[in-house]
Amino acid sequence: MTEKQGKVYLVGAGPGDPGLITVRAQALLSQADVVVYDYLVHPGLLAACRRNCETIYVGKQAGFHSIEQERIEEILIEKVKAGNEVVRLKGGDPFVYGRGGEEARRLVEQGISFEIVPGVTAAVAAAGYAGIPLTQRNTSSSVVFLTGHEDPLKKATIIDWRAFGALDSTLCIYMGMGRLREIVAALIEGGRDPGTPAAVVQWASVARQRTCRATLGELPDRVAAAGMGAPAVVIVGDVVAWGDKLNWFESRPLFGRRVAVTRNRAQAGELRDRLEILGAEVLEIPLVRVSADHDPKRWDEIFAELGAYDWLVFSSANGVKFFFEYFLEKYPDIRSLGAMRIAAVGKATARAIEAYRIIPEIVPAKATGEALADALIETGSLDNAKVLVVTGSLGGDKLISRLQSEGFAIVDRLPVYRTELERLEDVPAVKDFRERGADYIIFTSSSAVQSFAEQAARLKPGAEATVPKACSIGPVTSEKLKSSGVTVQVEPERQSLGALVEAIREHAARATE
Ligand code: SAH
Repeated sequence: MTEKQGKVYLVGAGPGDPGLITVRAQALLSQADVVVYDYLVHPGLLAACRRNCETIYVGKQAGFHSIEQERIEEILIEKVKAGNEVVRLKGGDPFVYGRGGEEARRLVEQGISFEIVPGVTAAVAAAGYAGIPLTQRNTSSSVVFLTGHEDPLKKATIIDWRAFGALDSTLCIYMGMGRLREIVAALIEGGRDPGTPAAVVQWASVARQRTCRATLGELPDRVAAAGMGAPAVVIVGDVVAWGDKLNWFESRPLFGRRVAVTRNRAQAGELRDRLEILGAEVLEIPLVRVSADHDPKRWDEIFAELGAYDWLVFSSANGVKFFFEYFLEKYPDIRSLGAMRIAAVGKATARAIEAYRIIPEIVPAKATGEALADALIETGSLDNAKVLVVTGSLGGDKLISRLQSEGFAIVDRLPVYRTELERLEDVPAVKDFRERGADYIIFTSSSAVQSFAEQAARLKPGAEATVPKACSIGPVTSEKLKSSGVTVQVEPERQSLGALVEAIREHAARATE
């Protein structure tokens, strides 16, 4: 061999829920030089890729297969021959209606080495997430996977649907939505009882999953009335009846609710996770962007006499993050900070400080600048004391002026980050939000409310869209919402993400009562 040749991994990505990818697949993604991926692959999975990994989208729609398939194979060959480790990432399992066989054979012909990484296939996921056991003692002891959509270039269908109608197996039909009526008719003609329980599971394993259950005979009408289409798996068999009781996924408290999260990208994750665990569909619409903003001259001034400060006060978790990132870069030993007393505006800020093994002395119960000023003044230690307040480009003014005017402190302000409006043109979820709206929209800062008010025209929901109920993390954000003309419908008593999500859960439960 003249040059080093890479390897191709034909990898199953699972059915949609990013948590259903295998550990092996994730490890390969994190090492790959090139990832070639399909339409039904969850985009979040690509986050595992290295920064300089090349990602190539080869998504295709039904009906345009063969030429593109050849082109996909050419891309794989070209990339692997250039010495790359190539992951070919496919929805579900690569060997179940995934054309993985063809791709692997082509690689063998070219003398290219490859591996197969199986994935959770759609039928297995649909069954699991709809609470339908595919096999069940005394009810069904065999399962058949079928496709309703064979090679579009072939005129005649090879599947003898009537023959499958004569079986009492559980049937799982992929790509069957376009021909559902014909398929069902043929199964019944073949002998399957029209009263057999059946279900269509669309978008299995992701927040927008929908299930339609009916008898086999009624299924086509019911599915049409519900407006359901691809991607979906049709499941036929007595086992489907079990789903009435075992439907865990769709009975989670926020299932079917759409929730828009307006925090900045870096901070949206925790809120997203908490909402998704409860079953919500989360739309990330970051209204603000937060970035480091260090004025080296200002830092030098302050750090030249760091030892002279009595108090170090943080007014936000972002302040903590950007302060310590820069501080530790300049002074790798945390002890350079000295023995200042430390205060945090609230629990989230305190937690961010504690991550550096520093315990803040003051954390007011109510996370506002006012409450923090009160708590600091109450210590009786401010008179003539030097206080360093770490802030962002916005806010902190009230806190600082009270520390000065009522506490008689000497206050220096150190801005460490900047909050800007996010450009909504660059946010993929905005289109979806405008078209379909959401049930709830969450605000966790007044800067996000400000951005929302200023960009209202860009976010205006269409005529068909659900108008979302505004949820606020706490009093400051609520005040800002009210002054912007937005009615606050959900606000927790305690200011924390957990309490906010809990308040939304309760609100949703009351709404369905
Ligand atoms: N290799 C894939 C199948 C690809 S064929 C696998 O193993 O799952 C595409 C078909 O798979 C769709 O038309 C639909 O029938 C099914 N499918 C894929 N993802 C699905 C999902 N999340 N929910 C329901 N059906 C899905």
